[in-house]
Amino acid sequence: MKATQDHPIHDVIVAGAGPVGLFLACELALANCSVLILEKAQDPHSPLKQLPFGLRGLNALSVEAMYRRGLLQELEMHKRIKTPHVTATAAQDAKPQAEGHFAGIQFNKASIDTSQWKYRLSSSTDTQLFSVMEELETVLTRRAESLGVTIKRGLAITCFQQTADRVTVQAGNQSFEGKWLVGCDGSRSAVRKAGGFEFAGTEPEFTGYSARVDLADPEKLKPGRNVTETGMYLKSQPDYIIMQDFDEGSFHNSGKPVTLEHAQEVLRRISNTDVTITALHVATTWTDRSRQATTYRNGRVLLAGDAAHIHSPLGGQGLNLGLGDAMNLGWKLAATIQNKAPEGLLDSYYTERHPLGIKVLEWSRAQVAIMKPNPHARALNAIFRDLMDTRDGVTYIAGRIWGINTHYSLEGNHPLTGHSVPNFEFDDGVKMGELMFDGEGVLLDFNGNGLLKRLAAEYGLKYISGSAKEQLGITAALVRPDGIIAWASDNNDPDHNELQKAAGRWFKKQTH
Ligand SMILES: Cc1cc2nc3c(=O)[nH]c(=O)nc-3n(C[C@H](O)[C@H](O)[C@H](O)COP(=O)(O)OP(=O)(O)OC[C@H]3O[C@@H](n4cnc5c(N)ncnc54)[C@H](O)[C@@H]3O)c2cc1C
Repeated sequence: MKATQDHPIHDVIVAGAGPVGLFLACELALANCSVLILEKAQDPHSPLKQLPFGLRGLNALSVEAMYRRGLLQELEMHKRIKTPHVTATAAQDAKPQAEGHFAGIQFNKASIDTSQWKYRLSSSTDTQLFSVMEELETVLTRRAESLGVTIKRGLAITCFQQTADRVTVQAGNQSFEGKWLVGCDGSRSAVRKAGGFEFAGTEPEFTGYSARVDLADPEKLKPGRNVTETGMYLKSQPDYIIMQDFDEGSFHNSGKPVTLEHAQEVLRRISNTDVTITALHVATTWTDRSRQATTYRNGRVLLAGDAAHIHSPLGGQGLNLGLGDAMNLGWKLAATIQNKAPEGLLDSYYTERHPLGIKVLEWSRAQVAIMKPNPHARALNAIFRDLMDTRDGVTYIAGRIWGINTHYSLEGNHPLTGHSVPNFEFDDGVKMGELMFDGEGVLLDFNGNGLLKRLAAEYGLKYISGSAKEQLGITAALVRPDGIIAWASDNNDPDHNELQKAAGRWFKKQTH
């Protein structure tokens, strides 16, 4: 098909208007790319995206990502949820408790040794916040549309063909053309399957259930999370139950619907009670199947979010991982399309994101391993409890859950290289994150050095000078559009050669 006004060739076609596809589309559109999202579902609303099912914990990295694009204040839900799962439906006017768990073992936030996080400033954004899928998607849809993204719903991508310069995508009985295609179409990704991506990993240990029910005798169930001889159940609200049944995922894989009788049988067995369910309103199942695409790119086709990696939702990491993919990929793909990318920039999407995916999959497998209903797992679980009672133990666990220790292995000597830029607060009260709303690369110069200003202009970077309240000993830093420090210096006379080399790794010199 030839491109016409009715059938334009988009820079990027994104498969899926889930949170990752929407966030990626926003990043691309912010960088002036034309983006078309094709979404399978006609209706963006679903009970599974609403409370209590749709509750999602965002970690420090996702909170920063939203903040750095001016979206944080649009997320209202966290201001009303006090304690997730406990008061989720009875939204209250209080800030949430920022806390977390590993394999159901709650950690004590007060014991964290924050001195180990020496680059986290008092002006940093929250370490965690609670959102709801529907709210997140609504906020991101609004932003995407305001940036000019076209979203077509009710169109499931079935296959595509790619040539040297474009991808033709088939959805329903229509076809669409893009220079690039990104599969953000979730765990069963059609793009991943049609693209022949290998999806390697491990099979599930359990079927997880989330269900809204009426109980005749709720007092028979203990409140909170209960690990039992046969599994785990969590009763957080009178009518909401989460269960883990270690059946190697067989019920989930059977594709059978959850009936009241089945839910009751599983609940009775796991809780070792004769509790009675009188009504089953909504129920869904999930597993801990862990798989990751062995490559994230095949020619002009890329994967991000659940399309690239799946794992148990325990400890809530999947969405965070996916939003991180989008933040990492957006500016790199835009620069590639606009011929502003130095050699190898797009490949760094895989080399940076794939190792983080491995870590998250291992994190979720480790949790499953110590939750299994057998004596060996219980023994390990007890050791973990002890370790999580130590200062170093809780600091390590919290750092992993909140994403505070997450970084990329980038070339460079400064310890901050590859880490998220601290939220420096400048003397006029403006914070670093607020200077990143436009998604540009930044050269930060606390010493007002004229040479750095010239270099910023050469590479098309935003030059920011001025002093900050807490500078952490840093005199200058090069910050990528995704907020990652590509180079930093503590020296009053920063090494220009090093800076020039670092700039050239991520940005192309301007030709005019
Ligand atoms: C019970 C549960 C609790 C969770 N809690 C957390 C948490 O607290 N924190 C966290 O970080 N993560 C959590 N997760 C994981 C998180 O929900 C996912 O990782 C996240 O939704 C992935 O986003 P995505 O956009 O990649 O995929 P999805 O949210 O699955 O979106 C994919 C989109 O693509 C569309 N689509 C599918 N096929 C096609 C097609 N062929 N063509 C076009 N469109 C298509 C779908 O309709 C959908 O809109 C949880 C998951 C579950 C199941």
